[in-house]
Amino acid sequence: MDEFEIIRRYFERAVSDDSIRVGIGDDGAVLRPDPGRDLICVIDTLVAEVHFPKSLAPADIGYRSVAVNLSDIAAMAGRPRWMLLALTLSDADPAWLEGFANGLFTAAEEFDLVLVGGDTTRGKETVISIQILGDVGVDQALTRGGAEPGDLIYVTGTPGDASAGLAVLHSGAPRNPDVDYLVNRFARPKARVHVGQAIAAQASAAIDLSDGLFSDIEKLLKASGVSGSIELAELPLSSPLIKLMGEDDALRFALGGGDDYELCFTATASAQVIQDIADQHAVAITCIGQVNDRSAAATALVCTRNGDEYDYQHGGYRHFH
Ligand code: ADP
Ligand code: MG
Repeated sequence: MDEFEIIRRYFERAVSDDSIRVGIGDDGAVLRPDPGRDLICVIDTLVAEVHFPKSLAPADIGYRSVAVNLSDIAAMAGRPRWMLLALTLSDADPAWLEGFANGLFTAAEEFDLVLVGGDTTRGKETVISIQILGDVGVDQALTRGGAEPGDLIYVTGTPGDASAGLAVLHSGAPRNPDVDYLVNRFARPKARVHVGQAIAAQASAAIDLSDGLFSDIEKLLKASGVSGSIELAELPLSSPLIKLMGEDDALRFALGGGDDYELCFTATASAQVIQDIADQHAVAITCIGQVNDRSAAATALVCTRNGDEYDYQHGGYRHFH
């Protein structure tokens, strides 16, 4: 199977979308943005054995590759529109390609995202690079940079699950419903696209959680030039995570694990407004801390646990597996 056959068989699907003037099959895609909207462009690369285990189901790899990119669009309150896929494969395994394409299109169709082009090459390792173009109202994109002293810090979902899921995948632990839940949180992250759009009018800053709650909140605070604090007793940890890892390790997974693709944002909105958004989108949104002072300090984020200072950087963190 040559690259043209791969593209035709697995990635070229009929689309009827007026915004796509030229789609797959020419030298480039020609897209027509809606007038009066800003474009948001994101790209993320996933390398086999670095970003996912090779043994992960191909459909999960496809789904996840799209979801991690959608998450960046979500964090900016964008609407996903078009996607490009650069795929490097060591061989053309039809079963793998079929599963991968199914997972990829499942994630795309959830958000009306259309594949409009890409590149297909042979290489030593599987490398998946996806670019998504989204849009947002003029000057409406949420950034990491707008947090203000007095804002509250919110997080969606239950951070820590995905990295714990990856750890149990690596450990080869026997499967049970709790293990399956955690593995699924790694394999099929839910991009919070609709929540991102819903909080746009309320939030002062936002970031998606890819590297771990602690460092991602720190990035937001630094970008905003403020300091902040979070109370670890408020972290929304899932019951499978606590059950399988115990409370202390659950906290470590949540703070340092990464791969969650939840949203973290700052806002002054009332608890009720935020709760209404959470109910509407059937996702937990939890207040875990607040923005303190304007600060240019290197350590922008302080943790407390039941009110006592918790030194996350020195001793709080431990590398797992
Ligand atoms: P060129 O040589 O002009 O760069 P290619 O032969 O690489 O074009 O690609 C042919 C067409 O197929 C282009 O429209 C390209 O965007 C599309 N394409 C290539 N690989 C993929 C892929 N993995 N998924 C979707 N579209 C692809
Ligand atoms: Mg060309």
